[in-house]
Amino acid sequence: MEMSFDNTETAFAYKSEKELKSARRLLQTMHYPWFVALGTRVTPLMMKIGLPIQGMVRKTIFKQFVGGETLEETARIGKLLDSYNVKVILDYGVEGKEGEESFEHATEQFIKVIRYAATQTNIPFISIKVTGFARFSLLQKLNEAPRLRSGIHDHEEEIDEWENVRERMFRICEAAALNNIGVLVDAEESWIQDPIDRLTIEMMEIFNKEHPIVYNTIQLYRHDRLDFLKLSHRIARQKAFTLAVKLVRGAYMERERTRAQQKGYPSPIQPDKESTDRDYNEALQYCVNNIGNIAFIVASHNEESNMLAAELLDSNGLPHNHPHVHFSQLYGMSDNISFNLAKAGYSVSKYLPFGPINDVIPYLMRRAQENTSVSGQTGRELALLNKELQRRKGR
Ligand SMILES: Cc1cc2nc3c(=O)[nH]c(=O)nc-3n(C[C@H](O)[C@H](O)[C@H](O)COP(=O)(O)OP(=O)(O)OC[C@H]3O[C@@H](n4cnc5c(N)ncnc54)[C@H](O)[C@@H]3O)c2cc1C
Repeated sequence: MEMSFDNTETAFAYKSEKELKSARRLLQTMHYPWFVALGTRVTPLMMKIGLPIQGMVRKTIFKQFVGGETLEETARIGKLLDSYNVKVILDYGVEGKEGEESFEHATEQFIKVIRYAATQTNIPFISIKVTGFARFSLLQKLNEAPRLRSGIHDHEEEIDEWENVRERMFRICEAAALNNIGVLVDAEESWIQDPIDRLTIEMMEIFNKEHPIVYNTIQLYRHDRLDFLKLSHRIARQKAFTLAVKLVRGAYMERERTRAQQKGYPSPIQPDKESTDRDYNEALQYCVNNIGNIAFIVASHNEESNMLAAELLDSNGLPHNHPHVHFSQLYGMSDNISFNLAKAGYSVSKYLPFGPINDVIPYLMRRAQENTSVSGQTGRELALLNKELQRRKGR
């Protein structure tokens, strides 16, 4: 049977009519850029000063994009997805908290999530952000002085601080390896990305000897990242480990361009969308061509790229559930891709964040912005929801 991303019966089988209607209401409001611009500015402030809007946030955008406030709540969603052969990438979604105490706490949480994932059959990966356990300005300093051994030369205490970051990363990856859970390291802004890449490659060298455990993220909206993928692969071959990568287009385009313009350096972002798409699809092709020692995750809501990856497996005679190939979409987005791929036997996971409502606000605000700015995304989602509601009405 031909796989189609237009099959809404498969896409939304796990949602009741009431849930489809409330998703439609939310997406309809998110369709207005002025509303999202206002909401993303005002909501974090209102939450901070304790205005009683938690209930509303919980019933709308939180419900659409987040698994729950606790692991137990999130497990319920995970079980539901699992009954459709869709697995979960668990993301402890706390962002933007600084301070050694918070960093230690986040590290412990990541390890707790890994141990929990190991008790479940449907959570093959967890995701982490290095800024969850490292000071942003420390990463920035290291980024600016990449050629020095540690990047820090004039502050003894920063050398210790960086050692603490490496030790936290090691603890997380070690726990993951012991429990056979993959760790996906998110890519962040280009001005802190270099130390994140170096640290992640260092961990791959230790933990990806037998099979892929640690995954780096490649943002193909950067014009230098296809080369970086190939460079990472050369290092992996030289040092005999499996290169594991999550392929994304990239989430911080506006911020990247604005900063480059303000500071007067060439933008790291591709000149246009076509260039991003071309490099993304070339990266897919490169990974399939080197499947022996590259494991990759197609982390995208782009139908063409997902279809291309699926077809590349077929045309290369590779099984749909090849252990080195995985597909993933964010929870609350592109169910038409996830559930149709899963039904056709591909390995698919929803990226499912969880955490206290106040802590996941930055993630939610990004989702709101993405759903207005990603061209056609909301329109497409709305059309699919309408199609499915119509189909159910006609039964
Ligand atoms: C499982 C998962 C994990 C993710 N992890 C990360 C992560 O670690 N780091 C991260 O940054 N993002 C991450 N993302 C977010 C991802 O980058 C966004 O979903 C992505 O930006 C949207 O791209 P798309 O492939 O879904 O589809 P599309 O809708 O086809 O592409 C939109 C994207 O194309 C790019 N683009 C748009 N216009 C232009 C233009 N004019 N010029 C150049 N490029 C353009 C931008 O990146 C934009 O977001 C993740 C996504 C998923 C699904």
